Amino acid sequence: MEHMTIVNFMPAYAQAPVSLRLLGEHLDDAVAKAEAEDVRLLLPQDSRLVERFGDKAAPMDGSIGFLYNNNTAVEGALKGQGLVSTGIVDSGAIPLVSGESWLLGTDSKTLWLEGAEMPIRLPTRTTARAILQAAGVTTDDLKALYLGFPQNMLITADKLDRPLFIRTDYARVYTVDNCMARALQEIASHFHREACGHCVYGYEGGFQIESILTDIVNKRGAAGDLALLRDLCPMMSGRALCNLDRALAHVVTEILDHFGDEIEAHISKRQCPAGECRAFMTYHILVSRCTGCGACMDACDDGAIMGKAKFVHVIDQRACSQCNRCLEACPEGAVVMAGIKKPKTPPRPIPVRR
Ligand code: SF4
Ligand code: SF4
Repeated sequence: MEHMTIVNFMPAYAQAPVSLRLLGEHLDDAVAKAEAEDVRLLLPQDSRLVERFGDKAAPMDGSIGFLYNNNTAVEGALKGQGLVSTGIVDSGAIPLVSGESWLLGTDSKTLWLEGAEMPIRLPTRTTARAILQAAGVTTDDLKALYLGFPQNMLITADKLDRPLFIRTDYARVYTVDNCMARALQEIASHFHREACGHCVYGYEGGFQIESILTDIVNKRGAAGDLALLRDLCPMMSGRALCNLDRALAHVVTEILDHFGDEIEAHISKRQCPAGECRAFMTYHILVSRCTGCGACMDACDDGAIMGKAKFVHVIDQRACSQCNRCLEACPEGAVVMAGIKKPKTPPRPIPVRR
């Protein structure tokens, strides 16, 4: 074990299988290289690759997120103990290198942007602007670029030219159409799934952060939620046993510092400024399209639609449970969902205009 190098081909969260893709492209070379070196390769359990690498393979299931920076967990995983760690971080004892560096040995990095069909390749040392340019993303509507697990770096639009090293396979672009409360809730949820559960401050702190944000994006946020999030971060940073949850605390602080007002609007104004959180959407019937056929009223189990034949129907927002049935039932496309900008509709049914 002392001189062995562990090569990681497991994708974090399975979002960006960059190394596995490269392994598929260079398989024969990789098998020969593994045979010649003192290495073990962390590979997905159900992969045909496990057979090709024989005893050089360490098959694993699930994601490998929490193995980063946690050598005790790596040791356990190599002994076939699965993904639950039983000890405290012992960083530096076992070299864990990314499959991509082991395979290609270059100072470039392959990066997969959420939603892209193909990964992009860049020098490891670069800037957020160069990443966005390589991906063909314009910066006009940009809120932030997030470099994913295990790097967990959020780069806001004002810091695009700062030098950085890419240390992740996955990135996500957030624009004005993306809600940062929702973004943070998704990030926290990923972290919580990766946490091993052996450290109260890390695991419980992560759970609390995810729960608070889930409430906020589902219109159940309460006054004081943001202060609670801020209080949790230094506690997690100082007392969590590994970098996983410290990294989460850092991302939470970054997002609160830059987008705190947007998140607060979900609580104090009952609004999602980006118009992305479904719980804050409302349903409306467009006067220009409604023929007064009544199909929406028949579909609504909440009795939230007012109207009669040949009258433009109207939705009572207080009674609407946002079930979407009227939108599906309307043959005219007259029912629409709206975020922060609401269409003008009459307060009660009026005769149809066409
Ligand atoms: S979304 Fe559902 S509850 Fe609301 S008006 Fe339409 S059918 Fe009724
Ligand atoms: S909104 Fe659609 S389904 Fe409802 S009455 Fe108007 S045309 Fe018919």
